[in-house]
Amino acid sequence: MRRILTSALTVLIAAAMPAAAHAQLPQIPRLPASSSADIQGEINHRLEDARAQVEDFSSQAFPHTAPGKKAPAAPAPKKPQPRNNGGVDCANCVAITYDDGPGAETNRLLDKLKAKNAHASFMVLAPNAYQHPELLKRMKAEGHTIGNHTKSHRQLNTLSYDQVSQEIDAGNAAIKKATGQGTRWVRPPYGATNATVDQATRDKGVSQALWDVDTVDWKDRNSDHVCSAAVQGARAGSIVLMHDIHPTTVDAADCVIDGLRAKGLEPVSLDRLLRTPVAGKRYYARG
Ligand SMILES: [Zn+2]
Repeated sequence: MRRILTSALTVLIAAAMPAAAHAQLPQIPRLPASSSADIQGEINHRLEDARAQVEDFSSQAFPHTAPGKKAPAAPAPKKPQPRNNGGVDCANCVAITYDDGPGAETNRLLDKLKAKNAHASFMVLAPNAYQHPELLKRMKAEGHTIGNHTKSHRQLNTLSYDQVSQEIDAGNAAIKKATGQGTRWVRPPYGATNATVDQATRDKGVSQALWDVDTVDWKDRNSDHVCSAAVQGARAGSIVLMHDIHPTTVDAADCVIDGLRAKGLEPVSLDRLLRTPVAGKRYYARG
């Protein structure tokens, strides 16, 4: 059983790896697992590692590769980079994220982030992205992550697979129209997800960006509350939820950034916090 699974794993990895990258992979030792469940877990883990290495070699390959599909051809790597899911150089990182825009307040927020040399993620709705492509261009140019908050902000866990797919496709199309590039992140509205959403995102090669710190800024509309909820709630690896359509939230940005830094945390983009996200996986935080 173990030998069969190991062989199957080797074949799967070989199929997923471009030749240049495959040559760099270490030999796969015998699996240490002692039960079928452990072996399956080990296989999944190693497949994730293999995919991560493919992506590391593929530099700016967006969107990332869906499982089971052949990875894009990678250029010969100059020097293999160590795997880093935000890792050592980003141990104190936090992702601050803003949903439902872009809108009238977004440029002001981008100015604040730039002045503080901080980075964030913007989970955009397709109609707003079509309305403000210049804001998406600016986000990309200034190093922020752009994520897909769908087309119509419906609860994806109430929809069929095809409807979920359409919501995701429409969001991605809007982002690509503005920036020339897709995204590897979907934020399900209300955080509403289920197995159908897992499957649809996995099939499309995107990951689910959820959160572990909810500032409830849409309800409070109070900058002090937004700031204290973000700063007090955040730990290394957190994903903080806010909305850049509320002036009070944008007003709080300086306080949030300064407060996080005073705690020894650094606000970064999701692509920096989680450099090799797994398609379909739900991320509430790093680690
Ligand atoms: Zn939303």
